[in-house]
Amino acid sequence: ALRIRHLNVHFGPTRAVDDAGLDVADGEVVALLGPSGCGKSTLLRSVAGLEPAATGEIRWDEEDLTRTPVHQRGIGLVFQDGQLFPHRDVAGNVRFGLRMHRIRPTEPRVDELLDLVGLKGYRRRRVTDLSGGEQQRVALARALAPKPRLLLLDEPLSALDRVLREQLALDLARLLRKAGTSALVVTHDHDEAFTLADRVALMREGRIVQTGTAEDVWRNPVDEPTATFLGCGL
Ligand code: ATP
Ligand code: MG
Repeated sequence: ALRIRHLNVHFGPTRAVDDAGLDVADGEVVALLGPSGCGKSTLLRSVAGLEPAATGEIRWDEEDLTRTPVHQRGIGLVFQDGQLFPHRDVAGNVRFGLRMHRIRPTEPRVDELLDLVGLKGYRRRRVTDLSGGEQQRVALARALAPKPRLLLLDEPLSALDRVLREQLALDLARLLRKAGTSALVVTHDHDEAFTLADRVALMREGRIVQTGTAEDVWRNPVDEPTATFLGCGL
């Protein structure tokens, strides 16, 4: 399980993450919601080890992740725009996910991963010829390749149109359950949070201000700004 306590990431005078605390249980999917600029991406990057200036506690069970090198943290990352390698085919991108973690890619493993994300038969396709949704599936297969204990997804579906987003959110929910991986998913879309997450965490000005099931949070927002953000009144 992931445990974050008193996490701070400051950029000069900007307190991007300000004394934040958050837990993600084993196999749990948590949606991270909050207004633009409140520190969601920075929090994710910090857990992944991409913001080294952070202070505070980031643990996986007893392990202090801040002391674990980035590639050994057991964390998979998916960003808004997939960030695939355009000059490699689908299988090549998935293989890279394995190599990056010093795992030798085998063809059955690559097929298994493509099957998992619903891209059977796509292994030789150029990623630049794929639709946005297909590209995000490749990014997901690449992130899942080394069997991470935690997936961090930063608005993985927000570049897609509404219909595709709803469909992929359902697929992603099923897939995360099937993989049994813990996940922290940043989203702007409230419906997506409902579809995907066991719990939601609300962030504002660098802090986690409320966590709970989506239903709890929408019924009992902690304060007026949160109610306004959720669009549900207090
Ligand atoms: P969005 O929903 O728009 O993606 P966010 O919640 O992900 O927003 P962050 O990207 O984490 O927000 O940014 C939080 C704050 O930290 C912002 O004020 C941003 O300008 C600032 N910030 C982020 N990265 C840097 C950086 N590398 N240098 C300086 N300031 C930064
Ligand atoms: Mg962001």
